[in-house]
Amino acid sequence: MNTLLTDIDFIQNNPAETVANNPTQVTAEINTGKSRKLYIESYGCAMNFSDSEIVTSILYKEGFDTTSELEQADVVFLNTCSIREKAEQTVRMRLSQINSHKKKRPGMIVGVLGCMAERLKSKLLDEEKLVDLVVGPDAYRDLPNLISDVDGGSRSVNVLLSREETYADINPIRLNSNGVSAFISIMRGCDNMCSFCVVPFTRGRERSRDAISIVAEAKSLLADGFKEVTLLGQNVDSYKWTATDGTEHVNFAGLLERVAVLSPDLRIRFSTSHPKDITDEVLYTMKKYPNICKYIHLPVQSGNSRVLELMNRTYDRDWYINRVDAIRRILGVDCAISSDMIAGFCTETEAEHQDTLSLMDYVQYDYSYMFFYSERPGTLAARKFADDIPLDVKKRRLAEIIEKQRELSYNRNLLAIGQVHRVLVENFSKKSTDQLSGRNDQNKVVVFPKGNFQKGDYVDVRITSCSVGTLFGEAV
Ligand code: SAM
Ligand code: SF4
Repeated sequence: MNTLLTDIDFIQNNPAETVANNPTQVTAEINTGKSRKLYIESYGCAMNFSDSEIVTSILYKEGFDTTSELEQADVVFLNTCSIREKAEQTVRMRLSQINSHKKKRPGMIVGVLGCMAERLKSKLLDEEKLVDLVVGPDAYRDLPNLISDVDGGSRSVNVLLSREETYADINPIRLNSNGVSAFISIMRGCDNMCSFCVVPFTRGRERSRDAISIVAEAKSLLADGFKEVTLLGQNVDSYKWTATDGTEHVNFAGLLERVAVLSPDLRIRFSTSHPKDITDEVLYTMKKYPNICKYIHLPVQSGNSRVLELMNRTYDRDWYINRVDAIRRILGVDCAISSDMIAGFCTETEAEHQDTLSLMDYVQYDYSYMFFYSERPGTLAARKFADDIPLDVKKRRLAEIIEKQRELSYNRNLLAIGQVHRVLVENFSKKSTDQLSGRNDQNKVVVFPKGNFQKGDYVDVRITSCSVGTLFGEAV
């Protein structure tokens, strides 16, 4: 039995969900002669990676360069994830390693940012004795004050959530950038209250960022040579922004269009779409602009309507199938669809688990991000339902879902053989500097001989073979 972890390309190409397999991103070295050094390890989803770029920008103005070496840092932040228990355990283990390093360098400031900061609040200061700072996702503007409090000898916490903060005016400093693709946060928080999910509690109410600042950020990336942007939000389809004078109203389809018209050479991706909100208008906008990638991350979580109701997803199996049919009708069979799946949610029966497998067959997902249910304290499910599926059953059901997905991914990849796909080159392939690696419209990794091409080039590649996670080919 193979697991998802066996093929790195397969699991790394979704910007929305990286925690299970690509747990950390570390600040790159930026040396501009500032007096102090900041080191950030970011865990979890792309929203966190994007937030770390905002934190870096706020602290750059306050006299901080960044470092990729913990040993060089004056301030160390872990930007954390709470989505599953394992994510929190990973951070706690890392904190104890960092704390033993701090004993050798007592002046070093250690802070916890993000979802764990919000969930555990000042308790974290007591539990992890050497943490100096605890800062929630809406309080990053306060970091300079909080750091100066710590410099003055006290420990600091700010976990206030906001209904307005979108950091719209802050120009993120790109970290670990390949210079080709970048994330743009278009909204924060979530109002959906799925019963299993901690996000509404850790990231607060949903708010959309000013459309004008989003377009300005995309323009500035384009001017800096970037070729691809991914618009990020927990539920991008509920994006809505109204100008303060009330003259402009922009929904997600409108925002996509405003970014797409900037340049035909700028590829647009987005994540995550919610099945209850994705509209035909969004699908027609995708169809109208060739530079909006034909790939939709549409997490279903379960294929059974009773379980979906317990999850409070607010759609059922038939509604989801209707949305998939609309994608196929408007964008065709080539549009890639991916999903998130949760195995072994409270009270799920064997027959209901089979419904998830049969839905996967119906949709023919290109890839999925698959988890077993992890109860999170304070969520609706933790309060209302017993976490009653034994761990071995959860794991077996998850293994069946993963196996099904491997079959589907391979079959979908086989369809590409013989076709010519436009690939945006991102890097050398992991295995050889004679090969380049990039992604096609459908977000699949494509590897081909380097020739005279380089990072940032669009290359037409004829696909000649594939694995579960990668397409291989030759430039035409
Ligand atoms: N907003 C996105 C959506 O609604 O699809 C999802 C965001 S969440 C950060 C990413 C994924 O983590 C979810 O789609 C779900 O599959 C998974 N997840 C969330 N809470 C979970 C839990 N308590 N146990 C297992 N997986 C969970
Ligand atoms: Fe969590 Fe549901 Fe919001 Fe996604 S839509 S972040 S799963 S509450």
